[in-house]
Amino acid sequence: MKTLRAARMLTCDRGAWGSGALGVLADACVSFDAHGIHWLGPAAALPPELPAPSQSAALITPGLVDAHTHSAWMGSRHEEYVLRMGGASYQQLAAAGGGILASHRALIAASEDEVFAELRARLQRMAALGVTTVEVKSGYGLTREGELKQLRAMKRAAADPGLPRVVSTYLALHALPPPVREAVPLAASVANYVATMTGDVLDEIAREGLAVFVDAYVDVGAFTAEQASCLAERARANGIGVRLHCGQFADVGGLDVAARYAAASVDHMEHFAANALDALARAGTAAVLLPIASYTLRQRPPDTDALRRAGVRLVVASDANPGTAPSESLPLAMAMALRDYGLSTEEIWLGATHYAANTLRVAGRVNATGQLAVGAPADIVAWDAPAEACILQPWGTQRTVGVWRDGVQIA
Ligand SMILES: [Zn+2]
Repeated sequence: MKTLRAARMLTCDRGAWGSGALGVLADACVSFDAHGIHWLGPAAALPPELPAPSQSAALITPGLVDAHTHSAWMGSRHEEYVLRMGGASYQQLAAAGGGILASHRALIAASEDEVFAELRARLQRMAALGVTTVEVKSGYGLTREGELKQLRAMKRAAADPGLPRVVSTYLALHALPPPVREAVPLAASVANYVATMTGDVLDEIAREGLAVFVDAYVDVGAFTAEQASCLAERARANGIGVRLHCGQFADVGGLDVAARYAAASVDHMEHFAANALDALARAGTAAVLLPIASYTLRQRPPDTDALRRAGVRLVVASDANPGTAPSESLPLAMAMALRDYGLSTEEIWLGATHYAANTLRVAGRVNATGQLAVGAPADIVAWDAPAEACILQPWGTQRTVGVWRDGVQIA
């Protein structure tokens, strides 16, 4: 058992402490071990049978929860990034063999061991930034075997208690691999590919426990709502949850699929038809906002007012990937959510902790809560900054002084 003391403690447990949405305590202690948080409250009320504080910090918060990443990628796309900044479009880069296909080639060339080693190093860097739970998508294999290799490397990371908790997503429909997109007739080739990626591979993924969620890239030039429905149907039959990339470039009907299958989240949302939002809110589907991606692509931010009005919960994530969101930093995404998306400090902190964790909890298989509360897993970050807004400004500095996941110090 260990006790930490903080001048300011954010519990993100609305209503439990104080009057605000973030449940703030002044001069507080938290006692915990690997089984969870045993006690928290004002330092003056620390029960004498609990250990005295072994460490003090200016600020203590729940561990950050990054609900959308592609962090099991291989290789680097720095050359493509330079071209993009020089004016080349996403579609031009894709046509030149860059984009997702460049990461696909690197993933196919790597062994499962190499994918695991790269992912582990990336997760360690995320932990140092205060992140204790990371959703990781496959989606660079683009073949049945390639995807399974990536998912198995992710499962090894998920089994390591010294890393942030990994929640795996099978990104079944991300892009068409070259043999599929070059085949004639194209329509039959695509239909065959979708059938393969959404077929009995899902049964195998469920049997091996390789993914908690499925995902599809539903957009213009990517996959259709109908194809995403095939995936969601097979996922549901296997007890696997659904998240969807929707509306990054256009709304092509993904939100209806998300509502129909009670998806945990719809992610991106730069473009959406407002009349689809009520069904989404009724289904309890959250919007995962990805400000680093829209910033990189110089896009207009999503209409967050419309999402709020409809009662859709807002989550903020990094979208960490080697192309359109070239950062591993959830705190940077949080800073951009304040700067560019007009979210309040409270919305951002809940969206990167408790609300993010809620989108990852499926049938009791993921226990992250994104809150400091008695009985919750001890996912805790100590910071050398005096207030939660100091993590949103200044940008790009690392302010953690201790990070615990399930009571084990991981950074
Ligand atoms: Zn993504």
